[in-house]
Amino acid sequence: MSQTKYIFVTGGVTSSLGKGIIAASLAKLLQARGYRTTIQKLDPYINVDPGTLNPYEHGECYVTDDGAETDLDLGHYERFLNVRTSQANNVTTGRIYQSVIEKERRGEFLGKTVQVVPHITNEIKERVQILGNSGDYDIIITEIGGTVGDIESLPYIEAVRQLLWELGEHNGIVIHLTLVPFLSAAGELKTKPTQHSVKTLMESGIKADILVCRTEHEISEEIKEKLALFCNVRKEAVIQSIDASTIYDVPIMMQEEGLDTVALEKLALPKDTEPNLEQWNEFLQRHKNPKNKVVIGLIGKYVELQDSYKSILESFIHAGAANEVEVKVRSIHSEHLSTKNIDKKLMGLDGILVAPGFGERGIEGKIEAVRYARENDLPFLGICLGMQMAVIEFARNILGMEGANSTEMDPNTPYPVISLMEEQKSVTNMGGTMRLGAWDCHLEADSLVHEVYGALDISERHRHRFEFNNEYKKQLEEAGLVPTGFNPKTGLVEVIEIPSHPWFVGVQYHPEYKSTVANPHPLFVGFVKAVLVQKQKQKNASLA
Ligand code: GLN
Repeated sequence: MSQTKYIFVTGGVTSSLGKGIIAASLAKLLQARGYRTTIQKLDPYINVDPGTLNPYEHGECYVTDDGAETDLDLGHYERFLNVRTSQANNVTTGRIYQSVIEKERRGEFLGKTVQVVPHITNEIKERVQILGNSGDYDIIITEIGGTVGDIESLPYIEAVRQLLWELGEHNGIVIHLTLVPFLSAAGELKTKPTQHSVKTLMESGIKADILVCRTEHEISEEIKEKLALFCNVRKEAVIQSIDASTIYDVPIMMQEEGLDTVALEKLALPKDTEPNLEQWNEFLQRHKNPKNKVVIGLIGKYVELQDSYKSILESFIHAGAANEVEVKVRSIHSEHLSTKNIDKKLMGLDGILVAPGFGERGIEGKIEAVRYARENDLPFLGICLGMQMAVIEFARNILGMEGANSTEMDPNTPYPVISLMEEQKSVTNMGGTMRLGAWDCHLEADSLVHEVYGALDISERHRHRFEFNNEYKKQLEEAGLVPTGFNPKTGLVEVIEIPSHPWFVGVQYHPEYKSTVANPHPLFVGFVKAVLVQKQKQKNASLA
């Protein structure tokens, strides 16, 4: 296929309609028909990337192989498509402006007045076309964050209008995602908000080709006709997107509604081959028909917002399906845990995951949770800060190093078992300066993680400033906390284990970023399996 085709996804009426899931579902269907597809997210906020955002603002920060700190929607793209994304897949207004201002400082605009149109819009268009021009994809789906009509979305909408005109008919289309609310007093679904948001889009010179309508109730044929007539689209192009019990059902629902077929028609692309969703359906089958159930505690401090730990929760779904187990994740606020209440709060858990995080708040609760898992033989997985807490717990409670800590939390600790990486010591700028992205790791041959991965050399994604302090390695190892994964170049410790415990692993990296439907992450698969085995063992012991 020579001409790369573009699909733009805009949102109307309200935010949080799930543009990312619709974009990822369509991409999945197109990929399953053999089209090389990728997705891009344009975010209209002024942060250069979401790396500096508190998780309460925008949920988890997702990290790509190339070390980009990105929007969590990129996680959905990777999980659905099993294709790696990169910095080019997520662009914010801040990054656009930064790049235009840098060009201005270099004199690249030759004395011209630099303006939103054309300079900002040109930069947006370039960023959209970078992926298309790479030659790696047949179809690019570009999701525009925010809602049409927002002040900050205007340059993006104008850039899309220009691109559609430049690309020409059948090379670019617009899918508009809207809400069709149900008014219980009237007992009716209402189309007016959709009509208004389509009109707002029209005022910017863009005609929606396809409407995807989020709804809590079935949209009748009559309402589809009404939407088609008043929003100026064909009836087949009015797609219902009803609430789903799992996001992984959405591709199937979109296929039934014919979203992929209409999109291909509009792009003048062949649509004869049916999508091959065999593997996807098999996963759904396993996900929906578990043979067992386990309860895993997710100990974190951003638990009020489910999106803060999105990739971890999704990794458990993939690993659960792989093991045919329903993984019930119980979110537990680490700030509410203390030595006194820990037994009560963690009662009934079959395994414990201590989550990543930053700063002092809630860490003592995390340390208590590690102790609980270690002492009660509960399978344990510590991720990034969770791994660091495991080291601190062991140093304090087994080696008697009172006050052991990470220098992030206590710069004057007498036992800095976790300390700042050498190259981080001179860092003053917070954005994009952590140890980020994919790094190689070598695993010890006789380790649990070697068995879990079935490989000795792995690569995993990172996002941290602090590290295991090698000065304490020997002491910790002799007492039973053993480093079993290292960066082959620097010797930094990446993995720790407690071999005397049934399953206790801490990793400095983030395995959750790499788990996909097609490739559930081995660490999560191994952890869930261990949780199940241990649960059955303890049950048998209590019966004996
Ligand atoms: N705050 C810790 C560090 O910077 C852990 C980071 C994380 O959990 N992602 O090293």
